[in-house]
Amino acid sequence: MTAPRTVTVQTSDHGPVNIPCPHWCTGAYHQEGGARVDITHTGPENELTVPTSSGPTRLMATVLEQRPFTEGATGRGVFIDVEIDGEYHPTGPHGLDAMADALVENASILRAEARRLTTLLAQEGK
Ligand SMILES: [Zn+2]
Repeated sequence: MTAPRTVTVQTSDHGPVNIPCPHWCTGAYHQEGGARVDITHTGPENELTVPTSSGPTRLMATVLEQRPFTEGATGRGVFIDVEIDGEYHPTGPHGLDAMADALVENASILRAEARRLTTLLAQEGK
């Protein structure tokens, strides 16, 4: 396990803040000049896509996050922020499993539609 590096973030309300930064953090949201409460550790984004006739199309994205000074509902622990259509949904392990289960259930709808379309095309002789 790599020891966290220490970074200094200049804040508007607490001056320079020295914080340990986890190894997975890209540092993209150590916003210089912002409020200390808004400092966020973020990992790299994972984009979930599906192939469409227009090319790969984004369904959602996930980002590992931690907000070490927040007073908000997300708390100060690590979570996954799930972005869907521009909306962000802080999510824990059970929520992620529920989303994965729903995606699998929705996949069965697409498979059923594929079988239905195949049958209709065969009936039309195409
Ligand atoms: Zn960080």
